[in-house]
Amino acid sequence: MATMPEQRPIGVFGGTFDPIHHGHLRLAQEALENLDLAQVRWIPAGRPPHRAEPRATPQQRLQMVRLAVQDNPAFAVDGAEVASADPSYTVLTLERLRRECGPAQPLVLLTGADAFAGLPTWHRWQDILALAHVAVVYRPGFSIDPAALPVELAREFQARRCSPRELQSAPAGGIATFPMTPLAIAATQIRQLLAAGRSPRYLLPEAVIAYIQAQQLYLSTPSN
Ligand code: ATP
Repeated sequence: MATMPEQRPIGVFGGTFDPIHHGHLRLAQEALENLDLAQVRWIPAGRPPHRAEPRATPQQRLQMVRLAVQDNPAFAVDGAEVASADPSYTVLTLERLRRECGPAQPLVLLTGADAFAGLPTWHRWQDILALAHVAVVYRPGFSIDPAALPVELAREFQARRCSPRELQSAPAGGIATFPMTPLAIAATQIRQLLAAGRSPRYLLPEAVIAYIQAQQLYLSTPSN
């Protein structure tokens, strides 16, 4: 990594958010504090290419993110992937953010350990590491031990591993880990609870639950 004057990084947090829950929210809040970020940009995927079609529409998932983060001034919502008809490739989003924020601004892609382990399957994944840093958080049930990662990713991890502090002194290229309060919450679990007629209360914000009920989301037995 080239050394530059220190600048607080912008966190970039993409996901399906089908629906957004307190695991996502604590991840973003603890990233903000542990990585000393200027902001976290939430970017719901429009058409995620790596997984089954989400249950809620892109607009509904965007609206749930808006409802969940609206009272946090350090969180911003970016609806560009939802607005686009193209598949949501992270590398294209990072190219756009790099154009918007300029070459010197540190960008940090925030990922849970499960998402990080799948990085080598992402479109132009090596370019992602040239456009942004990656910060990986522990997620219950998933390992960030290099021995458990795909070999090509373990190699990058070992070569690029740095401290959260070092993310401030270069625009991209580092891989840091950070801890968060372990919360074994998953959107899959919330969809299953709703389909079974059970309450998802306290797993996600009340405003999001009210929206889910008003839109009659996740009522049928999920296949994913
Ligand atoms: P699903 O159950 O539908 O797969 P999910 O709960 O994993 O959904 P995503 O939208 O796929 O949510 O996740 C977005 C990002 O948030 C990913 O990087 C994922 O690793 C991370 N993440 C989700 N839930 C947690 C959690 N409870 N703790 C830590 N990271 C999480």
